[in-house]
Amino acid sequence: MREIGKIWMNGRMVPFRDAKVHVLTHAMHYSTSVFEGIRCYDTPQGSAIFRLGEHIDRLYASAKLYSMKMRFAKRQVTDGVLSTVRASGYKECYVRPHAYYGYGVMGLTPTGNTVDVAISCWQWGKRKPGGLRCKVSSWAKVDSRFQPMRSKAASNYGNAVLARMEALDMGYDETIMLNLDGKVAEGSMANIFAVKDNTIRTPPVSAGCLDGITRNAIMQLVRADGGDVAEADLTRDDLYAADEIFMTGTAAEVQPVVQVDGVRLKAGRTAKQLQRSYRDVVMGRDERFASWLSYV
Ligand code: PMP
Repeated sequence: MREIGKIWMNGRMVPFRDAKVHVLTHAMHYSTSVFEGIRCYDTPQGSAIFRLGEHIDRLYASAKLYSMKMRFAKRQVTDGVLSTVRASGYKECYVRPHAYYGYGVMGLTPTGNTVDVAISCWQWGKRKPGGLRCKVSSWAKVDSRFQPMRSKAASNYGNAVLARMEALDMGYDETIMLNLDGKVAEGSMANIFAVKDNTIRTPPVSAGCLDGITRNAIMQLVRADGGDVAEADLTRDDLYAADEIFMTGTAAEVQPVVQVDGVRLKAGRTAKQLQRSYRDVVMGRDERFASWLSYV
């Protein structure tokens, strides 16, 4: 990690290496933290943050599901994101706001602690070129029968980390998780789409996937271009039988899947086309979605 710029901590700009918390911070023991992952792009018109409003809204919605009393208005956290990016000097970066139950009262009940908020940013490594080789996980995806999956909460990620490590240990690049009903949920940090006979399908949020902001952007983009996407349950054999599969996420953007378990797939036309059109949107080249960019 390059210790560059400042980290916004409860409204103060703190030098990167001094942004510390106490070891008895509640979130460190009980996963009582919610977060966002946001991208800032170096567009020809200047650095711009993609769908900042939607990310801040999701952060607050995630916090609400854990009864977190946010001490800062959305406007303050939004400004905090912009200040953190400006202070870093990065033209392009990944931004991580998070809200967590802090230090003070130990024990499972979190609500005696204040909810702290921090915003950091760093440079995101280049994603793997080509497509992803994916392993369907032996771990089932936790879903909203266990905890609220609409919340982008740290506690969702123990499950995702195990699935991802399993896939990497077996020589794959990424995992695909099925829910307890055997329906496809998502990857470890990306949503999934499958194309069959020119029909694009993605699992509904009820399958246990995150309500991804890139997923939503892709659906809007496809529809704006006259196509359609169905939110429909997918099974493991739908993946094996698909003409194309791709994943979407803030970090992944649009990435083709070229293998699921032993089944090989082509990086197809739809994924490649969407990769290009998504790039046009984030780089400010698509007027129709100009409102999705907040210039730093
Ligand atoms: N699913 C999971 C589990 C994720 O962590 C992410 C990344 N935030 C996504 C999907 C994609 O969501 P988004 O497009 O909002 O980044």
